[in-house]
Amino acid sequence: MFSRDDFSDNAPTVIKWIADYYTKLPELPVKSQVKPGEIYAQIAHQIPENGESFEEIIADVDRIILPGITHWQHPNFHAFFPANGSIESLFAEMITAAIGAQCMIWETSPAAAELEQRMMEWLRDAMKLPKMWEGVIQDTASTATLTAIICAREIATNFRSNDYGVPANLRVYCSTETHSSIEKAVGIAGIGRKNLVKIAVDEHGAMIPALLEQAITEDMENGKKPCCIITALGTTGTVAFDDNEAIGQIAQKYGCWLHVDAAYAGSAQLLPENEWMNKGLAYADSYVFNPHKWLFTNFDCTAYFVKDVSILLKCMEILPEYLKTKTRGQVNDYRDWGIPLGRRFRALKLWFVLRHYGLATIQQKLRKHLLFAKQFSVFVENQPKLRLVVGPTLNFVAFRIGGEGKNVAEIEAINQKSKSLLEAINTTGKAYLSHTKKDQYYLIRVVFGQTYLNEKDFENLCRVITDLLE
Ligand SMILES: *Cc1c(COP(=O)(O)O)cnc(C)c1O
Repeated sequence: MFSRDDFSDNAPTVIKWIADYYTKLPELPVKSQVKPGEIYAQIAHQIPENGESFEEIIADVDRIILPGITHWQHPNFHAFFPANGSIESLFAEMITAAIGAQCMIWETSPAAAELEQRMMEWLRDAMKLPKMWEGVIQDTASTATLTAIICAREIATNFRSNDYGVPANLRVYCSTETHSSIEKAVGIAGIGRKNLVKIAVDEHGAMIPALLEQAITEDMENGKKPCCIITALGTTGTVAFDDNEAIGQIAQKYGCWLHVDAAYAGSAQLLPENEWMNKGLAYADSYVFNPHKWLFTNFDCTAYFVKDVSILLKCMEILPEYLKTKTRGQVNDYRDWGIPLGRRFRALKLWFVLRHYGLATIQQKLRKHLLFAKQFSVFVENQPKLRLVVGPTLNFVAFRIGGEGKNVAEIEAINQKSKSLLEAINTTGKAYLSHTKKDQYYLIRVVFGQTYLNEKDFENLCRVITDLLE
């Protein structure tokens, strides 16, 4: 067991481990190649009776743990959406862990609360989000969306559901393309997953507003109570954008809460050329985006913004005697701004990143990612065996094996080839991509969001693919 005096002597071991990890990272297989149960079998069956040496533990990180890690910070991790980090963010996390504060209320660390307030203002203003919005950091977009749905539920039931339970007639709307966290949240909020109405999308993957309005009016005729509409700015499958202006007007007309899920694409709003993404946001009651996806701030860090914070407080506040403080009302007690009581000090890493990078460098990095997506689209178009299907949309591209299937069997044959190509790419260990489905076709998705991605890594990816196509 260490005493505090042992810190200085042992910290270099950990720092060296991290430095070595960064050095060898580009050579490690991006996607872990282990079989189910392989890691579990190597871990001792119980707590050791006597403490073991730190050297042994670190050696086991290399021996047991690393082979079972999928390297999210690898430059050729292009799967799902990124969860990128940075040295700045890592350093802040070290300090955060050292301080080890639990930031549930202002008094339990005033700096954490006030830095969080300022960081949310920084993001709001740099992203040109509506000036009156106020923000709070949450753990994930899933939690933020659940919070939004609960607020919508309370508004629709005159703030009675928290006390008396949820009536069975509430309805929530989103498109068929929106994220699974919405369906999960509608269930958890007690509204019932069967009361989530999924609206069809157009050829660009955007919700069709006329169909939304039709679903709402039909529901009302049937005694249902529309309470919440959730739009996506950047869907998970193919990065599609719902029209917040048209849908916002419908939300207003029928008295529905409008929640905007920009979990991944929100970062792009830091670029003035993407101001089109802000269209209609004035209608939104709440909005979420993840700095932990594409803003160089390691997981977890979710920015949740609301138009009227008093509603959020009314839904989330619960005040036992032991949490009453003298400063209530003068300061932000963030435990009232979300679901968990306990909160990590997450603002510090945002401050380190935003301050040490500066807006200009952040914009430069984001633009570089957008450029990689453009170049990759050209690469795909130049491959006779491939077909570019989506993008470049921001830093996203989706493609498949070429050819036009005239019937189900032919489409399935093409899909099998696309699937085999993806598996082959991932098995090389040199790159990690993931997939989605659109119009019956299996698509390979590529996202360019790694913090330290450079031209050489880009060429690696292209080489892996061309080698496999030969
Ligand atoms: C990633 C993602 C989510 C879920 O984010 P978590 O922070 O992991 O909960 C929700 N919506 C969209 C559009 C996403 O891309």
